[in-house]
Formats: sequence, structure tokens, C-alpha cells
Amino acid sequence: MPWGAPLRSRSRASGRGPWACMVWSTAMPELPEVETVRRSLEPHLVGRRVVAVEARPVRLREGIEPADWRARIEGTRFTALERRGKYLIAHGERAAALFHLGMSGRLVLARSQEPFAPHTHLVLRLEGGLEVRFIDPRRFGVAVVLEPGALAAHPSLARLGPDPVRGDAEGALTAAARSRSPIRSVLLDQRVLAGLGNIYANEALALAGISPLRRADAIAPRRLAALAAAVRQVLTAALDAGGTTLRDGGFVNAAGDGGYFAVKLAVYGREGQPCAGCGGAIVRRVLAGRSAFYCPRCQR
Ligand SMILES: [Zn+2]
Repeated sequence: MPWGAPLRSRSRASGRGPWACMVWSTAMPELPEVETVRRSLEPHLVGRRVVAVEARPVRLREGIEPADWRARIEGTRFTALERRGKYLIAHGERAAALFHLGMSGRLVLARSQEPFAPHTHLVLRLEGGLEVRFIDPRRFGVAVVLEPGALAAHPSLARLGPDPVRGDAEGALTAAARSRSPIRSVLLDQRVLAGLGNIYANEALALAGISPLRRADAIAPRRLAALAAAVRQVLTAALDAGGTTLRDGGFVNAAGDGGYFAVKLAVYGREGQPCAGCGGAIVRRVLAGRSAFYCPRCQR
């Protein structure tokens, strides 16, 4: 296949049936979205062998060497699909596939006759006729194939902090709170907690009544504990909302591409709108290049 040639559909099957799968919005996927992808793919992926790999030699944040994918993944049976932070790891008998959705990436399940979406860079055809497709228009994602033993040493995985839902979020925040950085930056640091992104970080700070601009080392321990609980609460609510979208056999119809789950956001994206707590206007401040949304009266 020539350099940069788009992957072509093998047939012209038209329409977007229920198999036209998951579609995510332009918002960056965070822990709940990635976990929902994991739950939807797991029953179709685990136990199945990869019969063919089609890869396009694009330049992502990391990965896709077509020859590598073919040599190591073709013929491999997947044994587990694991999430660590925002990474997904498809463990195979002989190799592991490591994915990160970056800013715009999607991992979708499709039947082989389904046409390829634009920016499909990788296709893993499974026995039984289903395919896992990696689509990434902005190419900030990761799609790497590794020896099983190389996983632990992968630099991105090795530095990940605990899972904010399953792990000790309070301990992680307390340890990180010696930092003079704004607390929002601490929450986004994947070495502190793995899986939080800007949307749920802002929402957790709103729930805990803490300003995203406040220096981490100026927050009292009991407020850090409240923040850890708030992180868990917003992520769990989003996971539950994602779970509801999964009930239709594990797929989200392309027509229903609301992107982020129907979670009611208190502050994120709500600049100028009234705060539910005090009625004052939500403000937006750009902090380290990314928007922070908060209520200056309710969040200190
Ligand atoms: Zn308020």
C-alpha cells in the first residue's frame, strides 16, 4: 500500500446501521469514555484471534508501523482488554496492543462490509467477521504493538498514577498537594491520577467547592479529601451514563453521536450561564492553555 493511501472499504455497503458503532465528539475522551469503549469491545475482542491486519503508515503521537502490526498481531488471540488511565491495552498471546485515543481518536467495532470512516488508520480483522478499527483525524492518538514484557517499561504506562475510581485518590492528591501549581493542573497530571481530563477535573472542583486556580499547597487536607470524593463521584456518574448507552448490545448508533454522555455539567462549557448554587455567572479563565470553568463565589 503506498504511503498515505487511505484504507478503502472492501465493498460499498451503504447506510449507517446499528453496526456503525461508536462515535465520540470533539471533546477529548476521559476515563469514563475510555472505560465505556473497553466495556463495549471486550466481549467481542477477548477470546478472538486476529486473522488480518490492515495498517496505514501514518504518523500518530506514537505508533503504527504496519509491518510490526502484521508480524506481531496477525494470528494472535486476545486474552484481555484492560484500561489504565486513558490507555487501553489489548493483551494477546504473543503481543499486546496499546491504544490511546488522544484528542479525537475512536476505536470502533464494525462488520467487514461496513465502509471505512475517514481517517481509519488501523483495522484488526477478527475471526468471525468483526473488525476493530482505529480512527483518528487529529492523530494525537497512540496505536502501538509491544512484546508483553515491554508493557511495564513503556514510558507512558510506567508513570501513570492510581486510578481515581478504584485507587487511592485521596492519598495521591495529598501527596501531590505539596505542589505550588494550580489544583486543576495537579488533577490533569496523569502521574497523580490516571484518567482525568479537563471536563471532569473542572466538574470535580465545582462539586468540591474549590477554585481551579487555587494553589494545591494552599488547600486544607479535609478539602483535598472532599476533592478526591468529588472526583470519584463525577467519574462514577459519567460511567453510569455511559453504561446506559451500552445497553443496546454494546453499540452506539452513529445517528446518536452525542459524544460525551448525557451528564449534566455544572460548570464545564457554561461560561456566562448561572451557577446552580448561587445564580452568579460561571466564568472561564485560560489556565496553562486550557479553559478552566468555575463559579468565583462558590469555589474558593
Ligand atoms: Zn455559585
